[in-house]
Amino acid sequence: MITIDALDARYLSGEWRRAERSYALRSPATGEELARVADLGADAGREAAAVAWEAFLAWRRTTAFERAAVLERWQALMHEHAEELATTMAREMGKPLRESRGEVAYAAGFVGWYAEEAKRVYGDAFPSQAGHKRLLALKQPVGPAFAITPWNFPLAMVTRKAAPALAAGCTMVLKPAEQSPLSALLLADLWLDAGGPAGTLQVLPTADPVPLADALIADPRVRKLSFTGSTEVGRQLYAKSAATVKRISLELGGHAPFLVFEDADVEEAVAQVMASKFRNAGQTCVCANRVYVHESLVDAFTEAYAAATERLVVGDPLDERTDIGPLVDEQAVAKVSRHVTDALERGAQLVTGGERRGGLYYAPTVLKGVAPDALMMREETFGPVAPIVAFRDDAEAVRLANDTPFGLAAYLYTHDLTRALLVAEELEYGIVGVNDGVPSAPYAPFGGVKQSGVGREGGPWGIEEYLETKFVSVGLRREAL
Ligand code: NAD
Repeated sequence: MITIDALDARYLSGEWRRAERSYALRSPATGEELARVADLGADAGREAAAVAWEAFLAWRRTTAFERAAVLERWQALMHEHAEELATTMAREMGKPLRESRGEVAYAAGFVGWYAEEAKRVYGDAFPSQAGHKRLLALKQPVGPAFAITPWNFPLAMVTRKAAPALAAGCTMVLKPAEQSPLSALLLADLWLDAGGPAGTLQVLPTADPVPLADALIADPRVRKLSFTGSTEVGRQLYAKSAATVKRISLELGGHAPFLVFEDADVEEAVAQVMASKFRNAGQTCVCANRVYVHESLVDAFTEAYAAATERLVVGDPLDERTDIGPLVDEQAVAKVSRHVTDALERGAQLVTGGERRGGLYYAPTVLKGVAPDALMMREETFGPVAPIVAFRDDAEAVRLANDTPFGLAAYLYTHDLTRALLVAEELEYGIVGVNDGVPSAPYAPFGGVKQSGVGREGGPWGIEEYLETKFVSVGLRREAL
């Protein structure tokens, strides 16, 4: 695998190249410069589209078995270099090392799963009204795909797109987030080491995503856009993709409710909400953003939850003991501070935390009695803050949970099977965790409804996003038999 020093202002487009312009990548934990990163614009985007098209003409003709073999080697190399990948991720975006190691395994899981799935892309043969016709539905790769990924899962959001795309026979141009380009570049280098042909996976970093992304989205050779990020940007990209009528997958923002019902075991419910809320310092799209607890349990729950929150270790992401690292940048800390101040101004009570801890660190925070119109009850906070609100009955819990334009993940805690299934059915969300604060898996469908997105990633659903269905109708001459 290439070293970080050797990455200096380099990017991968067919081969390793050095960019004329570069930007400084800084550690969110210490502010030190970690690397110079290529800063690419529209020209590089147009060139990447041409490279992706050329590579596609050959890659689409390989067999599924050949592609699977490259993916298997890629997965093995990710495991072999797990520690370097985890450390790089922790350094560039501040995810605590223990969690970073978990993400390497999760990211490699997509590669392994799609290595197998490549061989199971079946078409169909189906009957016709006309006796002399034979009808086929063939599955073929969509074509070159353009992926834009966020910083909060620097590896897993890449492999969740690249693994199914490459398995299906598509090529991919990837634009990683400004804050986490090194993880993506290392991953692409391992793809080359695994035998991935030049141009099948390109990685183009930039400090200004718009010109580069616009060039790729405008290019008719790019047949698909897959984006993970905020709803605001997703909406713009959806509109821009209309000009070339691209296939589209959007994994956008969430605003996850966690419902704790009256029959819950408080300690167990607290453990699940903790796992959901504080992953990556609250910076995941499926983190519980609002905690609703039945009024009969709310005091006991709040007390136990605050005690668990106070036990979290805030500190250096490279320290094995750390639970909560820094937030990714100043904007993120400003948003969290704004949400907390706003909630307090609207009458919420601070139970624990509620302040900056120097640099980009923010204390894990619990609030209670938060007003329904507070910012943190209307939009994603994306930080280590849990607002707890009481509800009276199941109908009110469902109404509060669904009262949002977002619909990515929702959670509920109950041991009543009827309640669990009925509430899960009523929730307008793409993912529901029942007594499970961390439901994501490479083999499960991940994605949102309403303004949280379009399409699914993971499992057989994820590879469909990179496949076209071609109808072949064959008319036979009846003379032979
Ligand atoms: P963001 O939308 O600002 O950035 C995401 C990516 O889009 C980055 O690569 C960025 O460079 C790029 N980008 C930004 N503006 C662009 C533009 N105008 N044109 C083209 N590309 C552009 O999001 P963020 O704040 O960095 O990431 C956090 C968001 O991502 C949260 O809302 C979170 O919920 C969401 N997210 C969703 C999922 C999911 O699967 N649904 C997963 C992780 C994160």
